[in-house]
Amino acid sequence: MTSIIPTQSHYWLKNAHIPQPLLEPTVQPTDSAAGPSPIQTTPLQSVKGDGLVLMDVEIEQGMIRQVIPAGSAISSHPAPSSEIPNPEIPNPEIPNPEIPMVDLQHKQVWPCFVDMHTHLDKGHTWEREPNPDRTFLGAIGACDRDMTRWTPDDLYLRMEFGLKCSYAHGTVAVRTHLDAPRSQATVSFGVFKALQAEWRDRLTLQATCLVLLEDFLGSHGEQLANLMADTPGGILGAVAFPNDDLDTQLDRIFALAKERQLDLDFHVDESGDPHADSLAHIARAALRHQFTGTITCGHCCSLAVQPPSQVQTTLDLVKAANLGIVSLPLCNLYLQDRQQAASGSFLQTGLAVQEKLITGNTPRWRGVTLLHELKAAGIRVAIANDNCRDPFHGFGDHDMLEVFNLSARIAHLDHPYSQWVETVTATPAELMGLSTKGKIGPGRPADLVIFKARTFSELLSRSQHDRVVVRNGEAIATDLPAYEELDPLMHRQTSTL
Ligand SMILES: [Zn+2]
Repeated sequence: MTSIIPTQSHYWLKNAHIPQPLLEPTVQPTDSAAGPSPIQTTPLQSVKGDGLVLMDVEIEQGMIRQVIPAGSAISSHPAPSSEIPNPEIPNPEIPNPEIPMVDLQHKQVWPCFVDMHTHLDKGHTWEREPNPDRTFLGAIGACDRDMTRWTPDDLYLRMEFGLKCSYAHGTVAVRTHLDAPRSQATVSFGVFKALQAEWRDRLTLQATCLVLLEDFLGSHGEQLANLMADTPGGILGAVAFPNDDLDTQLDRIFALAKERQLDLDFHVDESGDPHADSLAHIARAALRHQFTGTITCGHCCSLAVQPPSQVQTTLDLVKAANLGIVSLPLCNLYLQDRQQAASGSFLQTGLAVQEKLITGNTPRWRGVTLLHELKAAGIRVAIANDNCRDPFHGFGDHDMLEVFNLSARIAHLDHPYSQWVETVTATPAELMGLSTKGKIGPGRPADLVIFKARTFSELLSRSQHDRVVVRNGEAIATDLPAYEELDPLMHRQTSTL
């Protein structure tokens, strides 16, 4: 499909099916006399089916110039028959025949994706360090062993492999967590900065340090905060586990972030333990510190196995503290409930005794947080990739459409699908502070993904591997990197399969 995009810098995409929530809200019309490039409003035509609207998109010099209801430029304002056209006065209602028009025939057009939670430093290590028992603890052990190989060259090649995949699949911005123990932090963030510079014209990159929250109580915490402040797009982050000193640890990281005006991004309650309530502690800390930066909490799995009254209290706190939640359904599905403790605690009320339920190996619990309840409470909810082909998640290709597709099935993100499309586009863009990404509208870069699919059923029933990715108005090559690129790095030290 690549050839459908004209080589000229000025063209129209006609009859594009766009999910309505991905259109920028109607902008203020500008009098055409006020300037040479009047911005037109984006009145919506009829909403069809699952929230898809039919639009024409004008692209010029890499930017979106207009988004108007399909066909309206030609037919909505016919000239009166008695009026004799004056060839000296250009009529804006009649398209210039020299501007190419591509009739998309209802193909879906999305803004490029935003992937706000990844682990590029761990990625693509499965062949050399697989997770021996596929559990969360097994993943931590395997990653600790693998980290002994994380030289600058090793990190650069694997992290760039992930970026190549993201870019080819139509992603425009990526946030990665980077493991940052004292021995590794400067190495990994040095590689990140090199990649950030190398890829600055293709991907907006942000990085978050990842350590246990208790590490912030010592001198390393301050060093990490300084490192994040010195890193463009640096975010302060940590893993929050329930413990007696949790509030003290949170007070420390909030103070460090506040001093340096850093945003925060936590791994939170990534378990099926109903007693894991770090999310509520983080919300209380945000309110206590009157924190004005953006706070994102990832995973929050345990919320789904807690009593309704506790859930409501936590949702109220999260809403009051204006936290954003990012769910990682693919990784949760892979790791959670391997030992079925969550299934047991989830199902024990009313059905049978726990011992009877925990038999065999089939997981009963999907592991995801309360996406629907969070969204209904008015809390910003994003979805992201998390780990790819490493001990925390044995699969993945950095494809945000795959993430949306599988999440829709795992968590019933449907009826209508369109109410969830912002979870992989506009909402993560907002949480990452990227105001020009995640929506389609006049004045934004022409960064678009065009699918052959016209409806959501068509979109989610095939891989859409033949999508067209448009960046700054031009179709890019969407070839994926060959796995062979990683072969020199895949020497296994021990057999752990
Ligand atoms: Zn993660």
